[in-house]
Amino acid sequence: MTGLLLGALLACDRADCGDREQLRLVAADDSERAICAAVASSARERRAGLTAWPPLEADQGLLLDFPVTDQLCITTAPMPYAIDVLFLSEAGEVTSVACDRGPTDPVVCADPARQVLELPASQGCRRWLGARLHRADAPPRPDAAEPPSASPSPAEATPAPADWFRDPIPPEKAPCEAIAPVRADRSVPLRLLLDEGASQEALLNQTRRLQGFYEPYGLRFELDGPVERVSVGPLMSGAPDSPEDLLAPLGDFIEQHARAGVITVALLPALAAPGSAADRYFSELDGLTLTPALVADREGLAPLAALGAFGPVILLSQADLAHRHPGHLDLTLAHELGHALGLPHGGGSRNLMYDGPLRCAPRLTADQLAAASWP
Ligand SMILES: [Zn+2]
Repeated sequence: MTGLLLGALLACDRADCGDREQLRLVAADDSERAICAAVASSARERRAGLTAWPPLEADQGLLLDFPVTDQLCITTAPMPYAIDVLFLSEAGEVTSVACDRGPTDPVVCADPARQVLELPASQGCRRWLGARLHRADAPPRPDAAEPPSASPSPAEATPAPADWFRDPIPPEKAPCEAIAPVRADRSVPLRLLLDEGASQEALLNQTRRLQGFYEPYGLRFELDGPVERVSVGPLMSGAPDSPEDLLAPLGDFIEQHARAGVITVALLPALAAPGSAADRYFSELDGLTLTPALVADREGLAPLAALGAFGPVILLSQADLAHRHPGHLDLTLAHELGHALGLPHGGGSRNLMYDGPLRCAPRLTADQLAAASWP
């Protein structure tokens, strides 16, 4: 047993945590436990939870990092094995523990908490009550981070439309599986809008990743003109329980900026105004795609139905893209483009349209490419 524990500690040497984050739990009696943790810091990642990861080993865990302190509830219903659930305060103190929770156990809640650490079930789980969590390489919290750089500096020259995709960025992680030889061989027209509160570099970075992902499928992107500067700021501020208020600014944006036959991509400083009711519900929403088909399909988007036909619009949040955990693959625009082409979520955790964190470079299937509706 000692050997196993020692092995677990050694295995958690920082370099060996790979793209997971090294955590230390320090109990009141100074005993320690080292953990290589995946960090779920976006709403999508937190929803997916442990179902997005292979079964936890003794030295592994999942840290659910929430944007605000609130009552948190955890279900273990989809879990094939038992886990210990530790609730932590904003200061990183374990304020509540629920040990050995399996699939048949009811939902467990703690009030209030900021983070939840899920660990494989172990003997003596209750001794971590009151322990402190130390994060060696935590990314800065959004509220502690510097605001996105303001209007572009004069040095930030805009590439000509023909040069915009000159240096595609391929996914930096190994493919989940070999890409089937399916090709669409198409050119897709894009129109890029850059809010004055967002940076051109971030937009360039996302669109080069987009090109890098789709290139093996024979897709080329072409700008239908230079990047257009807009001044709209965050588009959502209203309460989610009054959808008219919440969606009206999105409707205005579509009316003003969407164009038939072109996919419009807009990088905004954030999608929801910081501190607003929408921010609370849509925090860390890094991308949002609106098409007439999506509007018709989702009851919550009903207030936008009055718009009728419009060209697809992809909205990206610079603040949330910037705070994605660096261990995760950022293909947000590539995923949103899938929605703009009419693709729903699905395809499993190795597919671009998976609604959860991506750990390896995902793929699209021939069926998905065939089902796409091209602008
Ligand atoms: Zn999606």
